[in-house]
Formats: sequence, C-alpha cells, structure tokens
Amino acid sequence: MSLKEEHFLNKDDGKSQYTEICSNEIDMKKDQNLNTVEERPIFQCCICGLTEHYDCFSNQVPFNRNIKTKADVYIARDPFSPRTKKQYLILGSACSICDKDICLKPECSLFYSKYFCSSCTRVNITHFPPKIQEKIRKTNRI
Ligand SMILES: [Zn+2]
Ligand SMILES: [Zn+2]
Repeated sequence: MSLKEEHFLNKDDGKSQYTEICSNEIDMKKDQNLNTVEERPIFQCCICGLTEHYDCFSNQVPFNRNIKTKADVYIARDPFSPRTKKQYLILGSACSICDKDICLKPECSLFYSKYFCSSCTRVNITHFPPKIQEKIRKTNRI
C-alpha cells in the first residue's frame, strides 16, 4: 500500500492590473493678452538717467481738471491706484534755463517758482536768494 500524496498547489496569481495613466498633455495656452499697449512717451532725467513712461507734459492733470501745477511737469497716472481715483505722479519737469528734462530728486532739480536743473542752479547760484543758495550747496551733486 503506498500512499501517494499529491499536493496540488493552485496558486492564484493575482495579476495586478497596471492601469496606465495617460498623462494628457496640457496645452499651455499662452494667454498673451496683447492689451493694446498705449504708446506712452518716455521721460528721462538728464542728470540721473531715470526713465519713466509719462502721459503728458502739462501744468494741468488731464484726467483731473481740478489739479494744476505751478509749472509744466511730466505727469503719469499712478499705476498703483485705480483709475477712478485719478491719482497721478509728477515725474519731473524741464529746466527753465536749459530746457533739459529733470526728475524731482533734490540732486537733480530745484523748484523756485520754476524748475531748474542742478547744473543751471550751480552756474546761476548767485541769482537765487541766500536761503536757496544754501540749499543748493547742501544737495549732493550727482
Ligand atoms: Zn534725476
Ligand atoms: Zn538747466
């Protein structure tokens, strides 16, 4: 008598299904909103070289008629406040002697009823009252 033991090992190979994830290529839609770029002129300070877009050169803010400046200045809309607020920035002016564009930094310009560039104020320093002369001497020259 022989006992034949047979072991049937039924292995269930659970075939794991690898679901292939198809990565859909997302079309990078480049939103190139070409907002009709307003061609704004550029103001450049002749002394320090500062450049900035401006909206007008006037003694009156075009979008806020209530405001008038004492001299013709380069005016730009304040880009950080909503248009409805009508905020504006004065970038600079032109020297009343040599007509060069100058920004409002004390090193670049002086306002004494008119705007003067730092070069002209130094050349014509004696034409200014003593207090202004003092101010001119104190400001650092670029
Ligand atoms: Zn300047
Ligand atoms: Zn000047």
